[in-house]
Amino acid sequence: MSRNRSEELMEMEHEYGAHNYHPLEVVISKAEGIWVEDPEGRRYMDMLSAYSAVNQGHRHPKIIKALKDQADILTLTSRAFFNDRWPVFAKKLADFTGKEMILPMNTGAEAVETALKTMRKWGYMVKGVEKDKAEIIVFENNFHGRTITIISFSIDPDATDYYGPFTPGFKVVPYDDLEAVEKAVTKNTVGIMVEPIQGEAGVVVPSDGFLKGLETIARKHNVLLAIDEIQTGFCRTGKNFAFQHEGIDPDIIIMGKALGGGVFPVSAIAANKDVLGVFKPGTHGSTFGGNPLACAVASAAIDVLVDEKMVERAAEMGKYFMDGIKAIQSPKIKLVRGKGLLIGVVLNESAGKARLYTTALKEKGLLCKETHDWIIRFAPPLVITKQEIDQALKTIQEVFASTPIPCV
Ligand SMILES: *Cc1c(COP(=O)(O)O)cnc(C)c1O
Repeated sequence: MSRNRSEELMEMEHEYGAHNYHPLEVVISKAEGIWVEDPEGRRYMDMLSAYSAVNQGHRHPKIIKALKDQADILTLTSRAFFNDRWPVFAKKLADFTGKEMILPMNTGAEAVETALKTMRKWGYMVKGVEKDKAEIIVFENNFHGRTITIISFSIDPDATDYYGPFTPGFKVVPYDDLEAVEKAVTKNTVGIMVEPIQGEAGVVVPSDGFLKGLETIARKHNVLLAIDEIQTGFCRTGKNFAFQHEGIDPDIIIMGKALGGGVFPVSAIAANKDVLGVFKPGTHGSTFGGNPLACAVASAAIDVLVDEKMVERAAEMGKYFMDGIKAIQSPKIKLVRGKGLLIGVVLNESAGKARLYTTALKEKGLLCKETHDWIIRFAPPLVITKQEIDQALKTIQEVFASTPIPCV
């Protein structure tokens, strides 16, 4: 039997690409808005949004125009020289975050590394912590990226096995446990880094007041609070940033994913001058950080979010979608949680593995991904309409009604 193009490509990837992912068996060769298409012309609704990197929808016309226009003028200068895009983008992102300064990088992991370096440097230069003694508090089941330092405080064996030795200086405490944080603080603590909702852990939403409590502890002990908004930021949860649900003012905001408008990696941290001021020329950097092409794209990515009121859309559509999923009465669903258009469906043990359901959903034209074996995450682009959500709900309903409970 002859293979179709999708099968050929999947085989080719299996042969030549390292196996560090386990993708669903679908090849995407085209996309627009919330829709993607495979080489055979089958259309799918994208309910993952590249882990929230495509909040604005695939190939948003204003973002693609910014990309093309800038590509015709200037793409890369390095920071050895000024360029005419970075200052404009820095001001825009500073305004959007309410912070005084921006430090640009490329991937999310680099922005996290930048936040860690900032907290340590601030700890030594401003707080006066003894050399090489700085401690940073992080949380169980965290996901902040894949560098050696970042996985040094992961508790997921898949992320850490055979990668040691690890970077010291981190204390891991239970998520959503303020008492544990308070106990972990010492005179050497320079920072607390937290996800406002733990996306990779399975859309784990902490109790109301947890972030507020972290802010209180940080202020009391003269410690910096860094919020990792890489997945939750840029309107995903129905606020510009998820920490705004609790009205707090973190010292460092870590951003990535949707900042690149679904085009390519753009990341940054935002903070005030008393914090980001610790950097002097030559002490940190990135060849591509702040490049004109990235700045043009990221500026358009922010404009689109603001102009198209995606924060309201995410709140409204998120509630509609969440209510719809909750209304699906299935013994396979244990609970539904999330905020805005970041939704996790936790399965009962008897339901079998989440992969069964994401595969069945794919067969019916809906793409989403399991996190762990028992959670399905739904995070469509924020441009999704009510009718499209209705269509998705119908598909989800059908899959939960029909997928047989497998023998385990
Ligand atoms: C995706 C993600 C990262 C890492 O971003 P990369 O661009 O993959 O390096 C860090 N933190 C959170 C919360 C994320 O979701």
